[in-house]
Amino acid sequence: MVKQTIQIFARVKPPARKQQSGIYSIDDDENLTPSLEIIIPRDLADGFVNNKRESYKFIFQRIFDQDAKQEIIFENIAKPVAESVLAGYNGTIFAYGQTGSGKTFTITGGAERYSDRGIIPRTLSYIFEQLQKDSSKIYTTHISYLEIYNECGYDLLDPRHEASRLEDLPKVTLLEDTDQNIHLKNLSLHQATNEEEALNLLFLGDTNRMIAETPMNQASTRSHCIFTIHLSSKEPGSATVRHAKLHLVDLAGSERVAKSGVGGQLLTEAKYINLSLHYLEQVIIALSEKNRSHIPYRNSMMTSVLRDSLGGNCMTTMIATLSLEKRNIDESISTCRFAQRVALIKNEAVLNEEIDPRSMIICLQKEIQELRDELALVTGEQRTEALTEAELLQLEKLITSFLEDQDPQSRLEVGADMRKIHHCFHHLKKLLNDKKILRNSTVSSEIKEPDCQEPVKEEEYKKLRDLLKQRDNEINILVNMLKKEKKKTQDALHFSSVDRGEIRLIQSSPFPPGNPEGQRTSLFSASTQSQDCSMLGNRSSLLHKKSGMREEMSLGRQEAFEIFKRDHADSVTIDDNKQILKQRFSEAKALGESINEARSKIGHLKEEITRRHIQQVALGVSENVAFPSTPDQEDRLRSQLEEEKRRYKIMFTRLKALKVEIEHLQLLMDKAKVKLQKEFEAWWAEEATHLQVDSPAANSLDHAKPSPQSSESQQDQSQLLSNQSSGREAQDHGIGNFGVCVGSARKVSPSPCPSPRSPEQSSTGTWLEGRTTSSVPLTGDSQTDSDILAFLKARQNILQKKCLGSN
Ligand code: ADP
Ligand code: MG
Repeated sequence: MVKQTIQIFARVKPPARKQQSGIYSIDDDENLTPSLEIIIPRDLADGFVNNKRESYKFIFQRIFDQDAKQEIIFENIAKPVAESVLAGYNGTIFAYGQTGSGKTFTITGGAERYSDRGIIPRTLSYIFEQLQKDSSKIYTTHISYLEIYNECGYDLLDPRHEASRLEDLPKVTLLEDTDQNIHLKNLSLHQATNEEEALNLLFLGDTNRMIAETPMNQASTRSHCIFTIHLSSKEPGSATVRHAKLHLVDLAGSERVAKSGVGGQLLTEAKYINLSLHYLEQVIIALSEKNRSHIPYRNSMMTSVLRDSLGGNCMTTMIATLSLEKRNIDESISTCRFAQRVALIKNEAVLNEEIDPRSMIICLQKEIQELRDELALVTGEQRTEALTEAELLQLEKLITSFLEDQDPQSRLEVGADMRKIHHCFHHLKKLLNDKKILRNSTVSSEIKEPDCQEPVKEEEYKKLRDLLKQRDNEINILVNMLKKEKKKTQDALHFSSVDRGEIRLIQSSPFPPGNPEGQRTSLFSASTQSQDCSMLGNRSSLLHKKSGMREEMSLGRQEAFEIFKRDHADSVTIDDNKQILKQRFSEAKALGESINEARSKIGHLKEEITRRHIQQVALGVSENVAFPSTPDQEDRLRSQLEEEKRRYKIMFTRLKALKVEIEHLQLLMDKAKVKLQKEFEAWWAEEATHLQVDSPAANSLDHAKPSPQSSESQQDQSQLLSNQSSGREAQDHGIGNFGVCVGSARKVSPSPCPSPRSPEQSSTGTWLEGRTTSSVPLTGDSQTDSDILAFLKARQNILQKKCLGSN
């Protein structure tokens, strides 16, 4: 059992804007406990703090300042927890802090750079790396991902990819068994055999989480997300299984509605944004107070799920995320206060061992049989009927295998049946006698032999002996040679099997799905590949589903999407990542080629060495002389071979790392694309609503039908306008090519006169009206046309804003 208080760490987020200095200071003198001092600026101190204290000091295990990289956070906070999980203990890491303080960044990571990946992907990578190194145990890993919003649990790993609202995800409920253990009904557990599969699950969960979020529920700030790695391990042949769980928790934002409370008094329940965080605080208070018998875990789903992590069987770590800007001082102090209380909680982690029922049953059955036999022996229960033919045969087989067994410990087990025991003795006696007779006869014949032969002449005998000696020598040489050859062939076979795997890795492009960790794993096994394919299939089908909307888009909408995409802030990130991905791909390709080269060089060197060997041996045998050796040359070849192998290994390791990075970048890009699509849909819907509300003209346009009333002159006018607003203008405003549909079969009423505007605005408006009436290819489908019109209207708004902005 390991007794440990909850470890608390603080991480300060870099400020969004340049920030005044002196708000906080960190004291991390190695000899002292690190402390964080938050200093209330003088201008705030009066109205803001009741008791006029000017600074607050908090102690943490360690404090990470703004420049702390994700790698450092992982090494110092998550790695020790991951290690104890590998040893069989439960672990929890939870991030607590106000919205925007970096909880998600710390737990999951940033969506822009590979180096920004957070604790979850790094922990997965670390755990799978360790599992591969340890061949003494059999490990199985499962993943689950739960979101709790408003006291309701949702399974984020719903593979159907159909959720567009949180409510569409499967609902997870709590069940308590008679031992008061909590079970989560409906939360799916997915096996992950390697890092890539686990990352795909994380990605699936995060995408579902993003898609299910609406401005109404603001799930990312008001919900708790619990990513759990379930690890079981078992030694081969043992009936004992160890289970460990690692919860990685991204809690809801801890901010309160009312900006007060720095003075220390507790706020009333109603003022909490998130009731479950209030209950979490109550649990923490109860746990940190001595002599409290009742801990109110059951008040909320989150505290029930994390029951073991809080004051139970778990090694728990808290990361207080702080956004130490002036306006966040009270929230930061409140976060630190919470952490100080959490640090008082003592947990007792035990190894979660359990007996595997199947192995246990086999052991017990054997024991029962032995006991029955013993009992029969002791009670002297006699069996009178004779043994059957089959039983006799079976016994004789047992005796034969017993005699053939080289193990001195082996036993002849026939059970406590005296008839069988007697038969065994009889049979053994018979065998012994038969053997004796046989030996006598052979000995006598051997004795007789010399008698029948002529005595060999001494000279002849010597000659034969010499010949025999010579032959022996030759045989020895050949045997040695064969042994060496055999070893080399084995090496070559082993090597080429590894190579084959690598060829597959290198040749299929982009990288084949599989475990990035290479030879020792099932990266190259067909079964894993097919599994991985299905995982990838899932991913692409998810994306397809999410981006499928786009394929169903009308032309206008697609056009609008293109522009929206181009103007979107994330497009820079996507483009950057695309560039990096491109670089990585070409690096991987070049590396692949070098690996191929190195491999063929290794092959040639090996061939050369073997060839020389065979030549030498052949020469030695045929001339009956010692091997003519040229050690220098051979040493040279060998050292070349070693050098090539070393180079090969380095390149292969790099290629593996590159593969992981490429995978991750692809996931990041996929995620960014889904996000973009989602935001576009929201923007589009909003614009369409505005259009319908604001513009009766658009409504009438929506339902425009080919009409003789659309006068020639109007059409002429609009065409004129359209021509005036040449491509130059379209380019100036970044409008894509809509195609010109002169003489369209449909004629549409132009918009009513634009409302009074500034000259710039009205020119834009004129341009737009011109485009609206004649340049846009109307499809005849009223939905599509209204899409186009909605887009144009929206575009008009943007342009107006731009014009106003430039003035
Ligand atoms: P929370 O989950 O607490 O609401 P986020 O993790 O979403 O906050 O962080 C808010 C923003 O700040 C994000 O854009 C994130 O990328 C950025 N951010 C947070 N922490 C850091 C950090 N340590 N370094 C750089 N950027 C950060
Ligand atoms: Mg967040």
